[in-house]
Amino acid sequence: MKAWVVSRHGGPEVLLLQPKDRPQAQAGETLVRVEAVGLNHLDLWVRKGVEGHTFPLPITPGCDIVGTVEETGQRVLVNPILSCGRCEKCKKGFEPLCPQFGLIGETTDGGCADIIRVPTGNLLPLPKNISTLDAVCLPIAYVTAWSMLTRKAKTEKGEWVLIQAGGSGVSVAAIQMAKYLGATVITTVGSPEKAEKARALGADHVIQYKTEPFREALKKILKSNGRKGVDIVIDHVGQETFSDSMRALDWGGRLVTCGSTTGPTAQINLQALFFKNLSILGSTMGAKSDLAVVLNLLEQKKIKAVIDRTFDWADLPKAHAYLESRKAFGKVVITR
Ligand code: ZN
Repeated sequence: MKAWVVSRHGGPEVLLLQPKDRPQAQAGETLVRVEAVGLNHLDLWVRKGVEGHTFPLPITPGCDIVGTVEETGQRVLVNPILSCGRCEKCKKGFEPLCPQFGLIGETTDGGCADIIRVPTGNLLPLPKNISTLDAVCLPIAYVTAWSMLTRKAKTEKGEWVLIQAGGSGVSVAAIQMAKYLGATVITTVGSPEKAEKARALGADHVIQYKTEPFREALKKILKSNGRKGVDIVIDHVGQETFSDSMRALDWGGRLVTCGSTTGPTAQINLQALFFKNLSILGSTMGAKSDLAVVLNLLEQKKIKAVIDRTFDWADLPKAHAYLESRKAFGKVVITR
C-alpha cells in the first residue's frame, strides 16, 4: 500500500507518496480503507511546521477521514480525537483538556494512506443518506465551529455574531450553525463571489474587507440596526483581525479564537476588556461527542457541507497549495 508522508517540514513539495507496510490492527483497533480526506489549515501546519512545536516526523497527514471498514465494508466517519478516556477531563466529556489529547493526522499518522488503523471507538457508521464527501467535511471544521458557538460563546437566540474570514472551513460551518441557533450573522470575505456564497449560506450582512474599510462598514451595519456592537466574534485569523474583532464587541461580548493564521501576537486594550465586561475565549476542537451532534445536524439538513473543490488522491500537494492560496470558499477534499 501507499501513504503520503511528511518527513521534513516545508512547501507542498515535501509531501511524498511512498510505499508503506500494511498496518496491523492492535487490540481495540480497526483497519479502514480510506475513501476521502478533507483538508484543514491544520494540515498546512503539520506540513510547514510551527515554531516551538515538534510534530512526530515522519507523519502521514489527514484528520478528516471517511472510509470503509476492511473486514465488513461498512462506511465510517473517523473521529480524529484521541485522549486517555480515564482522566477527569475525559470523564467530564471534554477531551481537548486531557493531558494525552491528540488528533489523528497531527499527533499520529492520519488518513492520507490507502489503509489506516483506527481505535474502534473513533468510528461512526455513516447513514446511507449522507454522502462520503459531505461527511468528510465535518470532523475538524464543523466540530470546532460548534464548540466555539455553543460550549464557549453560549450563543443565544437573537444575538449578533461576527464571523471573520467567512470562506474558511470553520467559518462556513459557523455561519450556518449561528443561523441555526437563531443569531444574526455578519461575516467578512475577500471577493464579491465569496460574498454571494456567504449570503447564500445565510449570512445576514457581508463585509468585503478588500474594498470597504472594515470598521466603517461594520459601524454602518450596526447603526442601521440600532446596535453598538456584536455579542460574539468568531476569529481564527489572529494578528490581522484581533484588534478589529475586540473593538466590534458590544458590552458583555465574547471573542472566541481557534486559530491565528496570520500570526500569534495581539495587543489588548485592558481598559476596554474589563470596563465593557468582555471575554476572550480560546478554543481547540470540541468534545469527542460533538461529531455525532454535527453529523445529526447534517442528516437533518439543518446544516450542509460546503465543498469548494475536490482533488484527485494523487494531487495532495496541489490541494495543499490551493488551500494555502486562500481562494477556497468551504472545504478542499482529496478523493479517489
Ligand atoms: Zn483523558
